[in-house]
Amino acid sequence: MKVILEKSKCVGCGSCISICPLYFEMTEQGKSHLKGTKVNFLDNNNEELEINKEKGCLQEAIENCPSQALKIKN
Ligand code: SF4
Repeated sequence: MKVILEKSKCVGCGSCISICPLYFEMTEQGKSHLKGTKVNFLDNNNEELEINKEKGCLQEAIENCPSQALKIKN
């Protein structure tokens, strides 16, 4: 499965970073960054991370994103 961060939707609230620092960090541009990924300029500046198993805090971070910028795709 994949974790997807839609950069264009991120409002930089910092919620995902405080809930799940294992996966997310704040950039100098004031947007979230999915650790270990690069921005895909061909796909709306999204970031995608392949994961085997969903780790605890990830689901909570997704549910608490105020702009629905985060999702899991199977
Ligand atoms: S919770 Fe959503 S809007 Fe807030 S920093 Fe994370 S991705 Fe961006």
